[in-house]
Amino acid sequence: MCGIVGYIGDKKAAPIVHQNLKRLEYRGYDSCGIATYSGSSRSSSSILLKKEVGMIDSIHEEVNLDGLPGNIGIGHTRWATHGGVTKENAHPHTSCNGKIALVHNGIISNYLELKAMLEKKGHRFKSQTDTECIVHLIEEKYDGCGRNIEYATIAALKEIKGTYATIIISADDPDMLICARNESPLLLGIGENEMYVGSDIASFLKHTTKAVPLDDGEYAVVTKSGYRIKDIQSGRELDKEILEIDWSDEAAKKEGYEHFMLKEIHEQPQTIANALNVYPEDIQKLAGMIDEAKTVYMIAAGTSLHAAIVSEYWFSNLCGKVVYAVDSSELVNKGVVDRDTLVISITQSGETYDTLAAMRFAKHRGAKTATIVNVIGSTATRMADHFILQSSGIEISVCATKTFTSQLVILLRTALELARMQGRDVSKIEAELSKCSEYIKEVFKSQDKIKDVAKEHFCVKNYIYIGKGINLPSALEGALKFKEITYNHAEGMSGGLLKHGTISLIDSDMHTVAVIPAAGENRQKMMSNIQEVKARGGVVIGITSGEPVPQCDANILVPGCSEIISPIVFAPAYQLLAYYTAVSLGRNVDKPRALAKSVTVE
Ligand code: GLU
Repeated sequence: MCGIVGYIGDKKAAPIVHQNLKRLEYRGYDSCGIATYSGSSRSSSSILLKKEVGMIDSIHEEVNLDGLPGNIGIGHTRWATHGGVTKENAHPHTSCNGKIALVHNGIISNYLELKAMLEKKGHRFKSQTDTECIVHLIEEKYDGCGRNIEYATIAALKEIKGTYATIIISADDPDMLICARNESPLLLGIGENEMYVGSDIASFLKHTTKAVPLDDGEYAVVTKSGYRIKDIQSGRELDKEILEIDWSDEAAKKEGYEHFMLKEIHEQPQTIANALNVYPEDIQKLAGMIDEAKTVYMIAAGTSLHAAIVSEYWFSNLCGKVVYAVDSSELVNKGVVDRDTLVISITQSGETYDTLAAMRFAKHRGAKTATIVNVIGSTATRMADHFILQSSGIEISVCATKTFTSQLVILLRTALELARMQGRDVSKIEAELSKCSEYIKEVFKSQDKIKDVAKEHFCVKNYIYIGKGINLPSALEGALKFKEITYNHAEGMSGGLLKHGTISLIDSDMHTVAVIPAAGENRQKMMSNIQEVKARGGVVIGITSGEPVPQCDANILVPGCSEIISPIVFAPAYQLLAYYTAVSLGRNVDKPRALAKSVTVE
């Protein structure tokens, strides 16, 4: 989780490092820090450092992060994994002589052995983190490596096990940053006579749109005029492609909306249109891969997993193809992953640890891989045999909204493509799908009603979301949005399952949110489920397509549409219900507790 940034150039580094760190705030963190090289001398006092527990703004108010001098700097937002949330454990960490400073994202798995060895050699540790062993190990190697920080870093990295994105500065080598990556994201940003390093593109997007992602096992020596990227093990120099990023920095601003989440919910008519415009050749290639594979797994985590579950219904109902939606962290426990298997990962960031680990596992087993992602240059795009960029633009709110509906559009387009390849007529569904953005605009007409429902019910602590068929995953996703940002209990299940146990919880303090399609058998079945809840004194909020359902205590209306595309149309309604409930409860909507945008740890 967390984030790291670095800067080297002619400008004062600290304010840039500070601002770039703020761009990573959405990833979640508990403390932060900055170190700069002051440029005054090659002494320990030339590395200056400020770090504290808390949020960047309040830390800045207290210690003035921008005050650090120098044109080289590194910064860190920490999401503690080893060692409590304390000032000592906040990064950057420094060597015993204070001449080397380092920030790190990830987990060093052999840190206890390394720490014991280094302590024996006289190194004094100032924190309880796993990270600190890296900086002491580099210091330990320094003299033996001809006092060359690059060689010392590489020698140290060769002994380190675990995951890392790390940036190092040294007072004795003041013209460079060294950075390295293994299973934690890291990119270089190329400026005019200045260079940036960051955990994601958003961190330096304000300064440059040219980026070079590092891959696992690579390190870079970065000076203000350029960079060299090498393989850590072989030392071979690598020639890497420079990516031109087409995200605008403007998109990373709230533009008058109270929260990024609300802004991003409202961007859905546009992001859905973007997903509808994704190259047909990319979709055709994925459909072909699905067609050829004997077993297809859709692996994902959190919200993306719900998109994967919706796709199970689309592939089986539209093209008779069984695909399995699997929680990424569980793929290793599924028996059949072999050369006849296709593993499709769905990951907004393309950096989700569990999903990347599952992709590695699949590749190791000889399976083919594909990925649907939002972030160009992300690890998933570079690992997969085929990738589709969903083009949703930057999503800042931790709670995923617009990226979910775009994933759905791409998955439905792929299922329709496969059905067409099988000679089926899918023109009617395609015609309706092309109207999806208009449907979503209609949902926004219910926004005031949703706000009122949220205001009326926000004190209720427990919710059950129910849906049927293709909208069972809508119930799961509605409940997930709700608990992510309101911190109230919500669980999703099929309407049919309710009576097998959970119904015993129904009373006036356990509300039910029912996702009700416009017509058909599932609408009728949802009515019966609603009756069952009402008979036990429950309160039912219907998220209802088409005509209102009189048995519900409240109806949030979305336009009538076919059930097959309805998971896309229902999404903004339950996203808004979660949003307004969280606002009524005074929650930190864009940065909910204990959640990170891109979960890059195991
Ligand atoms: N494992 C390190 C620590 O606990 C880094 C955590 C992070 O990625 O923020 O300090």
